[in-house]
Amino acid sequence: MEKPHIAVVPSAGFTHLVPILEFSKRLLHLHPEFHITCFIPSVGSIPPSSKAYLQTLPPTITSIFLSPVTFDHLPDATTLALQIELSVNLSLPQIRQELESLCSRAKVVALVVDVFASGAMDLGKEHNLLSYMYLPQSAMLLSLYFYSSKLDEILFSKSRDPKEPIKIPGSVPIPRTDLPLPFQHLPSAGYKGFLERAKRFDVADGIFMNTFLELESEAIRTLQEEDKAKPKVYPVGPIIQMGSSGQENGVTCLTWLDKQEPKSVLYVSFGSGGTLSQDQLNELAFGLELSGQKFLWVVRAPSSVVSSAYLSAETNDPLKFLPHGFLERTKKQGFVVPDWAPQIEVLGHSSTGGFISHCGWNSVLESVVKGVPVIAWPLFAEQSLNAVMLTDDVKVALRPKVNETGLVERQEIARVVRGLMEDNQGMEIRKRMEQLKIEAANAIKEDGSSTKTLSEVATSLRGI
Ligand code: UDP
Repeated sequence: MEKPHIAVVPSAGFTHLVPILEFSKRLLHLHPEFHITCFIPSVGSIPPSSKAYLQTLPPTITSIFLSPVTFDHLPDATTLALQIELSVNLSLPQIRQELESLCSRAKVVALVVDVFASGAMDLGKEHNLLSYMYLPQSAMLLSLYFYSSKLDEILFSKSRDPKEPIKIPGSVPIPRTDLPLPFQHLPSAGYKGFLERAKRFDVADGIFMNTFLELESEAIRTLQEEDKAKPKVYPVGPIIQMGSSGQENGVTCLTWLDKQEPKSVLYVSFGSGGTLSQDQLNELAFGLELSGQKFLWVVRAPSSVVSSAYLSAETNDPLKFLPHGFLERTKKQGFVVPDWAPQIEVLGHSSTGGFISHCGWNSVLESVVKGVPVIAWPLFAEQSLNAVMLTDDVKVALRPKVNETGLVERQEIARVVRGLMEDNQGMEIRKRMEQLKIEAANAIKEDGSSTKTLSEVATSLRGI
């Protein structure tokens, strides 16, 4: 009998491509009766990290590569989120064609689109398909999206104290300065884009979130119970990348880790495209050196734009931006990898004992799954929201103070690094992370909360 098909639309950028494909793999692993076809957009040529990943997809997922879009005429100030959305919106005519063709030759039962690909949901509706959104992020962020029109009134109300923290339903209080980046510039195109995106959730027949009950019980309960007019939400995580997350140049760092003491190494990485300024890069280098702790650092060439390497590959040699003599002085203390390391293997290595992370949601989940405590150093998007959750709610992270010019100074870096790797406070955090690791593993066991949730949807799709 013909297999029911699910069409999937990611958006451009490593962490809006890989998570929805990992979700697809997990769905097929649990429910091999489906087949998945994925329409892949890109901006210019596909970056090496995404290319390497796409080559590992199983034959049960068919990839259709859409013609790359180009951004030659975009205003300079176009935000990263809007660029990612454009990667899909400019491809909609082609997605329509491909979907039409797929529907004519296969029994397509549903469409699943990334949060930045919501423009494609209307195409699903045109073909009477159930249309789901995949949010590769937290329930807390979804709660903020749902709450954003009310929050808009609060933020623009003259009678409110701007210092008063924001109470998103189901979450710990959030200082205004830790709301996602678009909220830091009001009103702005990025903020307007956030509000527009929030409205698009209502079009979905359901929303999958890469989180799990035991991690975000209050936020998930609130989303499931409070507003019945909103689409149903399905926590199906933690879904992290299976197999290697590395490219060739990163593998040597695993050999170096093999030679280190258990839990002695601090891993330092700012996601698939996060970058620091030259001044901040210097402070981090001196701070790591000052801490005296072992480190494994994924170094990227500096930039004044924190997400500059997200959609396009960096070509500068990052090592030449490190302070003079740093590599020589720290050759026994640390290991530096240019641009990319096999993060999941690094976090799973017995020598890794801590993680300076920009708190991208995938990095958060990977540290939880591997039980590695965090130093939260958010850069952009909703990362500061994630940082608040890790430090104030689940309490598995420390957060360094930022000075009045926006820099984290070397002494402060050394202080938190020692705090995490050596002090009692670090031990407590480590214990809580170990517990969360067990809960994460339970959620995706055969009878785990997230497995059951995904099976509930698969069963209803099978009945179509
Ligand atoms: N990643 C990796 N090696 C690196 C940097 C990042 O494998 O050197 C992977 C990491 O494991 C995670 C993803 O890239 O899966 C980063 O996702 P996250 O949501 O943390 O941040 P973003 O890239 O969206 O800012």
